[in-house]
Amino acid sequence: MARINANYDKLTAGYLFPEIARRAAEFTDANPGVQIMRLGIGDTTEPLTAIVSGGLHAAVDRLSNSDTYSGYGEGEGNESLRQALADRYAERGVQLNASEIFISDGAKSDSANIQSLFSNDAVICVQDPAYPVYVDTNVIVGRTADAVDGQYEGLVYLPCTEANGFVPEPPSERVDLIYLCNPNNPTGAVATKAQLQAFVSYARENKAVIIFDAAYSAYITDPDLPRSIYELDGAAECVIELNSFSKDNGFTGLRLGWTIVPKALVTEDAAAGKVNTMWRRRQNTFFNGPANIVQEGALAALSPEGRRQSAEMVAYYKVNAKTIRDCLQSIGLTVFGGVNAPFLWMKTPDGMDSWAFFDKLLTETHVVGTPGSGFGPSGEGYFRLSAFGHEPDIARAVQSIRENLKL
Ligand code: PLP
Repeated sequence: MARINANYDKLTAGYLFPEIARRAAEFTDANPGVQIMRLGIGDTTEPLTAIVSGGLHAAVDRLSNSDTYSGYGEGEGNESLRQALADRYAERGVQLNASEIFISDGAKSDSANIQSLFSNDAVICVQDPAYPVYVDTNVIVGRTADAVDGQYEGLVYLPCTEANGFVPEPPSERVDLIYLCNPNNPTGAVATKAQLQAFVSYARENKAVIIFDAAYSAYITDPDLPRSIYELDGAAECVIELNSFSKDNGFTGLRLGWTIVPKALVTEDAAAGKVNTMWRRRQNTFFNGPANIVQEGALAALSPEGRRQSAEMVAYYKVNAKTIRDCLQSIGLTVFGGVNAPFLWMKTPDGMDSWAFFDKLLTETHVVGTPGSGFGPSGEGYFRLSAFGHEPDIARAVQSIRENLKL
């Protein structure tokens, strides 16, 4: 007799985006002809760069010819792509071997699957607010009890608040796995070297492992901020870093990311090399490697011209972020992030709760954003706006906020 995994019943998240869609639909039904403007999405909007498009087309042609056709590739991903990534890290002084890099179908899958490397009784620590995948996957595998007031019993939460600049201190208690997202979704905060070094020191002292999600690292342009946590001393012993082609090359639909499991990584019961071997085994058992066509697109993205075109795409979204930030500040709102990140984290006016502000913004300006409370209790009283969008749409939304939001 089959029985289901009852942990799924504990999940509270997953309610955020359907609820946004429900409220937006209710508004359009009640106000026919009114056009809603979306500043809430985390999905990219600009087309693939010309060079990526060329790489994809060439790969399709190769697969369409019996002389050049290829089938399954390496489970860890194409070696030349892994080497191209290693070369890019080397430019920032980070020495990685291609065998420490694993290409996947995206940072979401990896951030969900990586927890399977660790013991069932591992104590999990997350930032609050957080990208929901880190929490939900640990709930599903049974590392928590039920949620009470939006927090799961058994998880350790690090509140990200205005007081700490949305970058928390390492935990004061002993934990085993720490998820850090930097630049942060949803707050747009970016940690300094010293702040990240404190986490690395904590992890080394406690034989903990940091899962470092750097999916938005391309948005860091401040030269003093680290783009990879491996720029810090000792990080290779205690950090698994994830990244993606989604946000700087528009691969959200194509699907491609990578995870670095350094051979130097150790845990209380695993010597150097063991966790790297385990992840290789995991990927080869559960996954047959990412799409070969998509990997050719990524190789093109990493060429000198590809990187130039990708930087242009990032710069485009960063201009949008500045447009939104300038608008909100000009009408007296308090806003964080959006400088080295594509997300802006706005304080709701007059201490309104996040959903009340959602309704106000929608009804007065027809703009849809994301209530901060949907990312965790410390997000209450905040609102996430995203810089992903076509520039004219952003300009229209910003104009409507400036003219119609009643403060
Ligand atoms: N990590 C963070 C923090 C994200 O916000 C997202 C997407 O929104 C992802 C990972 C997903 O990346 P990918 O498209 O590579 O799966």
